[in-house]
Amino acid sequence: MKRELTTYGQAVLRRRMKEVVLPDEALGDLIDKMLDIMYREKGIGLAAPQIGLDMRLAVIDLGRRDVERLVLINPMIISRQGECVAEEGCLSIPGVSGNVMRSREVVVETWDTAGNRRTVKCVGLLARVVEHELDHLDGLLIIDKISTVERSLMSSKLKKLKKEASRKS
Ligand SMILES: [Zn+2]
Repeated sequence: MKRELTTYGQAVLRRRMKEVVLPDEALGDLIDKMLDIMYREKGIGLAAPQIGLDMRLAVIDLGRRDVERLVLINPMIISRQGECVAEEGCLSIPGVSGNVMRSREVVVETWDTAGNRRTVKCVGLLARVVEHELDHLDGLLIIDKISTVERSLMSSKLKKLKKEASRKS
């Protein structure tokens, strides 16, 4: 299945996603598809609304051997520590990037398809990507987190993306 990525301007990216009802063993196939799409697009994280699905579900793979691949189902951050600013992009806002403040460390609570709860401690880039993907599940994007100066610099790009999105939906 070749699913197209949703892009800035499409309504699904601005909504709060619905909780996944667990257990749901069939979810494994969808998770595999999301991973395929993420690798194809050369991303390190992908959230369900980015492929048009109203679900609190996201996948993350930094592509590093020392960091585990994460599947997040109904995730919630239960603790945060420290702050760190770094440049961030998003597959749903092609050509746009900006400096975003994130936690240096987070502990995220998540569930597996069988309905078992687990908590994962994430540090550095992984913590950043977890916060980025969880933002997607609440309809938030990096452009909501960057400075107004940076945002105004990309306003023409954003306008163009919005125009393209209106043609899609
Ligand atoms: Zn994103």
